[in-house]
Amino acid sequence: MGQRLLAWYRANRRSLPWRDRPEPYRVWVSEMMLQQTQVDTVLPYFERWMARFPDIAALADAEEDAVLSMWQGLGYYSRARSLWQAARDLRAAGKSELPDTVAGLRALPGIGDYTAGAIASIAFERDEPVVDGNVIRVLARWLALGGDPNKRPLRDALWQFARRLLVEGQAGDFNQGLMELGALVCRPKQPSCGVCPLQSDCRGLEAGLVDTLPAIAKRPKATKVLAVAAVLEHRGRLLVARAPADANRWASMWMFPSVELGAGENVAQGLVRAVSFWTGLNCSVGERLGFHDHSVTRYRIRLEWHRVEPSPGKLRARPGSELRYCDAVGLRALAMPAAHRVIANSLERS
Ligand code: SF4
Repeated sequence: MGQRLLAWYRANRRSLPWRDRPEPYRVWVSEMMLQQTQVDTVLPYFERWMARFPDIAALADAEEDAVLSMWQGLGYYSRARSLWQAARDLRAAGKSELPDTVAGLRALPGIGDYTAGAIASIAFERDEPVVDGNVIRVLARWLALGGDPNKRPLRDALWQFARRLLVEGQAGDFNQGLMELGALVCRPKQPSCGVCPLQSDCRGLEAGLVDTLPAIAKRPKATKVLAVAAVLEHRGRLLVARAPADANRWASMWMFPSVELGAGENVAQGLVRAVSFWTGLNCSVGERLGFHDHSVTRYRIRLEWHRVEPSPGKLRARPGSELRYCDAVGLRALAMPAAHRVIANSLERS
């Protein structure tokens, strides 16, 4: 199986910048960006990141704002913070390169079993397996494995199969081959079994189980959320707040004063709470200026933004946060969550 997969991979692999130059730092950055994100989306971000932070030292030297700005639009900002923190940890330990073992890599922030295995095998040519969504799909079908692959015992069994199957000395290409096969051939829907190098001994295909494997448990239904953001204008500039560095969401990022509505709370009440929470002031609520629908994990979020007029008084930022009035140029320079960037762009156009 291993040699067939390797031959297929070498003939069919996509040329990707981190694949064509698999240096450890580049592989690490690409793997972090590719978590939850499609290859086509990652490509321009990867090139920009490499131009701005070409190595661990450059990343460790950067300001957090600059790092978050480069990540803007990719979402799941904890990935960017983990990269930055890991670079700083390495520098503090007097190192300019990544560790070359799974154990060493796992000790860095944001690096789990999959990412450690990917870096160790692809960048350091170590015989380490990887199991991601694509590998799960290929192995579950090829071996006809029932059960939920995200739960024990199947999850552990998949790691054992991935380790047992890999071709020694060529784990990087083998792992990438499995993932590439899952991405290009053994796709979630309508896999191209006719051109698959594993077709001749695919148990799932033989048993007619391809459409039912892997048997991933259905996700809970999406939860709808309504969030409101306040637009406070002063002499042509708009008020934005920076979330504290230890905030659960959007840590250190800039946004319009906003909250998610609680049970039974209406839009006006939410806006008054948002302004009070972020600035300490009361306010009167004006017209709705726009809305934006988006999804974060299983939440379907509608974010509405309204003009508000604050009561007279001095703005008081929350502990650990910051308030700033910005013109359009100033807003463009800030790291903002994607939905708040939509607000800034729409206000700039209006
Ligand atoms: S034969 Fe079909 S189901 Fe089996 S591994 Fe290949 S693409 Fe997947």
